[in-house]
Amino acid sequence: MLAGFDGIVRATTGSKRLKLGSDVGRTDLLSGHDKSNGLFTGDIDGSGTTRMYVRRKLANQPLFVAIALPEAGVYAQPYRNQQRYIILGFIGSLLVLVIVYFGVMHQKRLEVARVALAESEARAQRKSEELERTLEHMGQGIIMVDGDGEVVVMNDNAVALLELPGKLARQRNRFDQIVDHMLARGEFGSIGRSDEQATMRQVRSLRPGLDRDYYERKRPDGTVLAVQSQRMPDGGFVRTITDITERHRSAEKIAHLARHDTLTGLANRTLFREKLDAALEHIDRDDGFCVLFLDLDDFKIVNDAHGHPVGDGLLCQVALRLKEAVRSQDTVARFGGDEFAIIMTGLSDPNQVIVRTRHLIELLREPYRVDDIFLSSTASIGCALAPTDGSTANDLLRNADIALYCAKADGRNTSKLFAPEMSEQLIERRRTEEELSNAIAAGELELHYQPLVSISSGSFCGFEALVRWNHPERGRIPPLDFIPIAEDTGLIVPIGRWVLNKACHEAASWENEQRIAVNLSSIQFREASLVDDIRLALKQSGLEAERLELEITESVMMQNGEQTIAKLKEINGLGVKISMDDFGTGYSSLSYLRNFAFDKIKIDRSFVNELGRGNECDSIVRAIIALAEGLSVSTTAEGVETSEQLEVLRAMGCVEAQGYLFSPPRPASEIYEFVNQVPNIQQRSLQQRGHHQRGSRQITASKPELVASVTDDELVNSTG
Ligand code: C2E
Ligand code: CA
Ligand code: CA
Repeated sequence: MLAGFDGIVRATTGSKRLKLGSDVGRTDLLSGHDKSNGLFTGDIDGSGTTRMYVRRKLANQPLFVAIALPEAGVYAQPYRNQQRYIILGFIGSLLVLVIVYFGVMHQKRLEVARVALAESEARAQRKSEELERTLEHMGQGIIMVDGDGEVVVMNDNAVALLELPGKLARQRNRFDQIVDHMLARGEFGSIGRSDEQATMRQVRSLRPGLDRDYYERKRPDGTVLAVQSQRMPDGGFVRTITDITERHRSAEKIAHLARHDTLTGLANRTLFREKLDAALEHIDRDDGFCVLFLDLDDFKIVNDAHGHPVGDGLLCQVALRLKEAVRSQDTVARFGGDEFAIIMTGLSDPNQVIVRTRHLIELLREPYRVDDIFLSSTASIGCALAPTDGSTANDLLRNADIALYCAKADGRNTSKLFAPEMSEQLIERRRTEEELSNAIAAGELELHYQPLVSISSGSFCGFEALVRWNHPERGRIPPLDFIPIAEDTGLIVPIGRWVLNKACHEAASWENEQRIAVNLSSIQFREASLVDDIRLALKQSGLEAERLELEITESVMMQNGEQTIAKLKEINGLGVKISMDDFGTGYSSLSYLRNFAFDKIKIDRSFVNELGRGNECDSIVRAIIALAEGLSVSTTAEGVETSEQLEVLRAMGCVEAQGYLFSPPRPASEIYEFVNQVPNIQQRSLQQRGHHQRGSRQITASKPELVASVTDDELVNSTG
């Protein structure tokens, strides 16, 4: 555009609005004081578009030229650049922010890691201290050996247990050096030499192929170490060493206890069985052995009489005697109670066995002294020879037991060698025991009565009740055949009670008030109820106590002295009389007379039998009678069979007599006449009765009133 300073456009191009003659005088183009050259921005032509104007004054003319460009066009590139820069700046800032953020985060993480590291370092330190303390206080020795065979860890305990010298106690030694030191010191005894490869490998590390290895060894000083090794991944190993001396000792003790009897220290059943099995393994025909079962007779009596401590003392002494009597290679065992068993080796001859067992029986019969108490005891022995009587342990034990059983049944204090027929006897005996236990209930027991005669008057002054067993198949069994069985099994208690009751009832029914004598077994004296049983029998029968006589043998007195005497006194206190039966057959009958005031002594049949034959029996019987007189004790001679015997007894002053001469034991029904006739008339009735019986014979005493008839049958059957 060319315009004058008057504002009138003289020429124009490019703008539709500005035309020739248009006035721009009042626009920004001409406003202001300097109307020379300049740069302006504005909307000159009123088109709404802001333009940039350049104004140039024409030299020497009141004209100027203005060139306009739209402002947007002029700034388009810078704008674009500016936007780009803004975006780039923004992105850059964002990037910086991200980097800064990550940087901070990293820093933070680093910090956390540093703290954690410090913590874990502290922890590790603590752990290592703890570990060290543990190692030192663990009570076990610990050694860690690395793959190169170097000791990495070794605690003080290990050093102490292995008694290592200072230079070997330091770590970083070679483990082999330690082992060599111990070897040189003789630590492993015979083992550990080159011949004991496997053991040595175990000592130096672990046996090949094992991840874990264990062995125990006894050190020369007696301590026992348990050594456990665990292989490590690097080929080394960790080894713990534990002192198990105490545990080992207890284990040995337990093992000993498991095989020995605590009371006597002898082998027990288990060890005996092992020895027996071993003996059987080595047996050959020439070298047999013998199994002995030994049982004390009446041990229970000693136990009951003097208490268990004394009983135990007796068992210990028996054990000692047996131990000393056998050879060192023999085995003596106690199976419990008073049961002993012995294996005698190198014995195959039965005669030899008999000699040896007799010796044992003699040895055990010697008096014992326990706590100032003198005891006497006997033993029964059963023997079985290997291999004759059995080739297995069970057979031998069973047969020795059977033989013992027979020794017991044969009166005890004896030994028996097993014989095959014993088994039969045993079966028979077991059957008898069973049948006897039913005998009372089955009404198979019966009492027979044998009169006791006053020698001076010839009258029947009493009767002894003697039990019989009427067996449904075996007939009448004599008491000597079943009383010992009843005593062994304890059946004597109910049987004895039955006898007592029955005898008291019977006697209470007699018109003439003769006395009734009842035998008591020693076993009955062990019953606490004995005195009450007697009291009850008297009460229920109504029999006066003075008419009851109880006969006891020496075996009763051998039991608990004081208790027995107290019981005897209590019985005596009831008014019941006590007789000493079978006097003279025991060892110390005399001493028992001193301990208790017996009412009567019954002189044993074995002495009476021999009277008038010119041997020492006359003197013995005379002495007994004199002694009894001195003690104001009555006397009864047992087993008087002949009038000669009766005359000798009369001359000696014996008070009463009992025997086949007068009458055998008779059933209750038959003695009716005896008990219901007045004295002296009885004899006549007997005579008459005798004449009525077939095959009877007469035994006449020198005094005419003492005559009794006895049938032959009765004589033969008198013991049953
Ligand atoms: P004991 O107490 O010595 O009884 C006397 C035994 O001698 C009786 O044998 C009797 O029949 C027998 N006898 C009697 N006079 C003569 C004779 O002139 N010659 C011969 N050779 N013997 C004669 P028994 O009845 O066989 O009794 C044997 C043993 O059995 C008794 O000996 C006694 O110890 C025991 N006994 C019997 N009955 C009982 C009882 O009820 N209880 C207890 N505990 N034992 C009894
Ligand atoms: Ca008797
Ligand atoms: Ca007797």
